[in-house]
Amino acid sequence: MPEFDLIDRLERIICLPEGELQSGCRVGIGDDAAVLEIPEGQELVVSTDTLVEGVHFPAGTPAESIGYKALAVNLSDLASMGAKPTCFFLALTLPREDARWLDEFSAGMAGLARQWRVQLAGGDTTTGPLSMTITALGTVNRGRALLRSGARAGDLVVISGAPGVAARALEIIQAGREPAAMQRKALDYPQPRVDLGQSLAGLATSCIDLSDGLAADLVHILDQSGVGAEIELGRLPVHEGLAGLTDQERWRLQLSGGDDYELCFTVPADSTPELNRISDACDIELTPVGTIVQGSGLELKTEDGASYDLASTGYIHFSGGE
Ligand code: ADP
Ligand code: MG
Repeated sequence: MPEFDLIDRLERIICLPEGELQSGCRVGIGDDAAVLEIPEGQELVVSTDTLVEGVHFPAGTPAESIGYKALAVNLSDLASMGAKPTCFFLALTLPREDARWLDEFSAGMAGLARQWRVQLAGGDTTTGPLSMTITALGTVNRGRALLRSGARAGDLVVISGAPGVAARALEIIQAGREPAAMQRKALDYPQPRVDLGQSLAGLATSCIDLSDGLAADLVHILDQSGVGAEIELGRLPVHEGLAGLTDQERWRLQLSGGDDYELCFTVPADSTPELNRISDACDIELTPVGTIVQGSGLELKTEDGASYDLASTGYIHFSGGE
């Protein structure tokens, strides 16, 4: 398949017709570079992420879920900044000509692109081991981007959804068994919290998306904000996909399991009414799981108030300054 055919295919399946566009993309695929407009009073937010076969997904993963997830992880980064996504660029390296694979890949990506009305505005195509790099662009009102550095002592630590299921699905697959459909969906089709992130701009004092696990990702907020946090294990929301596990197994997945792409953010302590409103508007469970404190590092508390040492399970290094 000549390269122009391939680009044509991608464009036909993924690109939105002009009427459905977010503002911003004046010139897209077909010229030497894209031309984008940045609305008055807004800033550009840009994120890039690469997925490599054998590293980020196993060989044989359905093309549709690869296409979906490649875009989803990038939209999740924009969401965690409070940005509204507008367009993305796709650098695709393919081992061989495979029209069917490409169409399925494109369909997975197109579904998500339509859902959030983000335009494929350009890219690059090469031959080699299967990998893809997406660069996603979004906008945020000037000075309103959600950073990792704004958490203050007394703030609540809040998470969206219920973490740990994607990691559970992966463990089941790696053990040679088949996860339940709901578990596999969490792994292959994570929902980037695009509308939630935008709703939090102006309320949250810091925000991060959960790609490496709640404990490790929250520590990034703590380090960059110069604060500590106490998390109450009994408040962690429990997904039905984690039913039947011991407390220790469940906590390990909820705290150290990656790939959830939920948001973890901090808000001032008196934000409960706003949280409830946003939870309803975005139709997503928002759970305060702990508090920001002075000092540094993450402390985990069991229901009887005892400290819990996650590192003792030997699972992941997550203490401050890592
Ligand atoms: P050039 O040699 O000028 O870089 P290309 O043939 O690489 O031109 O690309 C031609 C057009 O197709 C450009 O607008 C480019 O952004 C777009 N394009 C190429 N590959 C992809 C891709 N994988 N996804 C989206 N657009 C692509
Ligand atoms: Mg090129």
